[in-house]
Amino acid sequence: MSDRRLQVYQTDQVRVTYDPSVCMHSGVCLRTMPAVFDGRPERWVQPENAAAEAVMAVVAKCPSGALRAQLVTSVLRSVKRDGGA
Ligand code: SF4
Repeated sequence: MSDRRLQVYQTDQVRVTYDPSVCMHSGVCLRTMPAVFDGRPERWVQPENAAAEAVMAVVAKCPSGALRAQLVTSVLRSVKRDGGA
């Protein structure tokens, strides 16, 4: 993957971000939940393939912090707090 910009993958339940400039390629995500983190070049994170809490648990194991996740309800709360809709 040559694009080093932050990537966002969102469902109506969970928002996952991936920062390629931070990833240390440990493969923890791919091995732990291949249905969601499948390594394909385009849209390699598919959070809709598992429960939001399960996705968040795998993201928490990312050793580099390249993966981050928030439940969508928390995202909406922060948008409201910051003056959004
Ligand atoms: S677990 Fe984190 S550091 Fe390891 S490959 Fe996945 S995103 Fe990269």
